[in-house]
Amino acid sequence: MHVLVLGAGQLARMMSLAGAPLNIEISAFDVGSKNIVHPLTQAILGNGLDTAIERADVITAEFEHIPHDVLEVCERSGKFLPTTKAIKAGGDRRLEKALLDDASVKNAKYYEINSREDFDAAIAHVGLPMVLKSTLGGYDGKGQWRLKTLDNVEATWTEMAECIAATDNQAIVAEEFVPFDREVSLVGARGANGEIQVYPLAENVHTDGVLSLSTAIDDIELQEQAKTMFTAIAERLNYVGVLALEFFDVQGSLLVNEIAPRVHNSGHWTQQGAETCQFENHLRAVCGMPLGSTKLIRPTAMINILGEDTLPEAILAQGGCHVHWYGKEKRAGRKMGHINVSADYNAELQRTLCSLANILDKQAYPAVHEFAEQLK
Ligand code: ATP
Ligand code: MG
Repeated sequence: MHVLVLGAGQLARMMSLAGAPLNIEISAFDVGSKNIVHPLTQAILGNGLDTAIERADVITAEFEHIPHDVLEVCERSGKFLPTTKAIKAGGDRRLEKALLDDASVKNAKYYEINSREDFDAAIAHVGLPMVLKSTLGGYDGKGQWRLKTLDNVEATWTEMAECIAATDNQAIVAEEFVPFDREVSLVGARGANGEIQVYPLAENVHTDGVLSLSTAIDDIELQEQAKTMFTAIAERLNYVGVLALEFFDVQGSLLVNEIAPRVHNSGHWTQQGAETCQFENHLRAVCGMPLGSTKLIRPTAMINILGEDTLPEAILAQGGCHVHWYGKEKRAGRKMGHINVSADYNAELQRTLCSLANILDKQAYPAVHEFAEQLK
């Protein structure tokens, strides 16, 4: 099987690594340069998008911000999965909110803003404090504002108006501020035959809007709620592939924050912690194969490596630690790789995370240090 992935970042890279044992070969479309590249070496493969579409058995995507003209040619080929509707919903908060409402899935109260008058209406409808998010192009907390008091309305509007003017079809979605206890996410897969398998929920810690620590958790009650919402959304979209849902946990009740129509950073732990990792399951689904088991095999946490291109050697010497680099050039805050930390028991995993706090720098890995502090 030959799979063409739209996007040539770390997610395409890890799909390629997971696909090799199944004889699934991956090439990647770099949306920036418009080149078809090898997902591991980034070497240009010399044929353009049209030829690559023709050669591919299946086309899929590793991210949702794909130019619509590219999506359309892929869709016309009849080979694109999960569906363009799902990709567009993941890339536009207006469509995402409409999808959640259509699927009767709980989400934060919201209001769409296109003008200064809409902003006033949003404040009346949603109330303060509120979170304001650009509808297009947002990721890792970028393109967001927080409005706590009416004093800041004009200054916030100036920035929002600039953002709206800068991009065609851009708008802002105002959301009520959700006083969540924690953030969790569910990664799961829906096969071509409609079969659904979900992984255990992951609890996620963000640092400055970017995921920093993600740990698989065992919570039967929350898992059930999350799976019901996952099924409603995946079936509504007639989805095929891996889909991730981010939730706010408010006193044991889940609200969907956003959806990601792809493999997800909070599912990287599955490479060591689950019987079949999310990358393999995405490929199995889009290639029409049976899904692999999503069962937890070892308690596992994932630590993101942000803006660093080296690690103390002691990490590799530490039992249960697996390092995954993405081969990217170092830039401040950039996702450069991750460390999966596994153990036989939860208590042992906690102990290992605490010992990692002694090895990893506090500035670069604040979430690991906070975790260790809380256990003291
Ligand atoms: P991602 O990298 O996950 O794609 P993103 O930039 O698309 O991030 P969100 O996930 O919507 O944005 O928001 C980033 C973070 O901001 C959330 O993980 C959460 O911590 C916080 N946040 C977002 N919306 C709300 C809300 N309505 N109430 C409270 N906190 C929020
Ligand atoms: Mg998010």
